[in-house]
Amino acid sequence: MELLKMTTKEVREYLKDKHTVIIPVGATEEHSDALPLGTDTFTAEKIAIETGKKTKTIVAPTISVGNCHSVTYMFPGTISISPITLTMVIKDYLESLYKHGFRNFLFVNGHGGNIAPIRCAIDSVVPIFKKSRFAVGSWWLFKELEELYDHAGHAGRGEVSMILYLHPDLVHKNLFTEEIKILPPYYVSEDLVKDKITKTGIINDTQNGNAKLGKILFEKSIKVYISILKKME
Ligand SMILES: [Zn+2]
Repeated sequence: MELLKMTTKEVREYLKDKHTVIIPVGATEEHSDALPLGTDTFTAEKIAIETGKKTKTIVAPTISVGNCHSVTYMFPGTISISPITLTMVIKDYLESLYKHGFRNFLFVNGHGGNIAPIRCAIDSVVPIFKKSRFAVGSWWLFKELEELYDHAGHAGRGEVSMILYLHPDLVHKNLFTEEIKILPPYYVSEDLVKDKITKTGIINDTQNGNAKLGKILFEKSIKVYISILKKME
């Protein structure tokens, strides 16, 4: 149930007995030369829509530009909304949905840089909203997927697998790289990033993924999101 495809009458009817909404948040971000800039957006959106279908829950329009102010900002094609602006965008999003009766808000997040802004937006409405519940699920951080995802990095095995499964037409397999670089356990300013990241923008990983793993990651993610929804409602 995609909000954009519904009428206001249908939303009014939905709100008579259900108050849950799923909000996918992605990014428009460099994902190496082999994967599309929409990797995080496609993944979050497809997980959200499938979760919505299986649970008859409304899925709000995807926020497809996220916060990429660190590490990947310098790569062409990346568009970044600063963390403070993104927090305000998400806060406005929540307030609009709340105004009409939504009370349970599940974020399907596809990008690490969005986690803090989503949390900040939630914290800024928590004292004002009534009888509301919030959850932020970043699929690659789910405990249930830990073994399968195996600490894969940016544009690495996990994301390669997801996109090979969800959008094989957008993967340039001939451009997978063997180059590996490991980020240090601290943040660096943009002028220092180049030495810490591979030339094509992969972080902490290889690109050794496959569609079979992508299918498993996708399906298991949906199961976890459904279990979160059940607990919220
Ligand atoms: Zn990503």
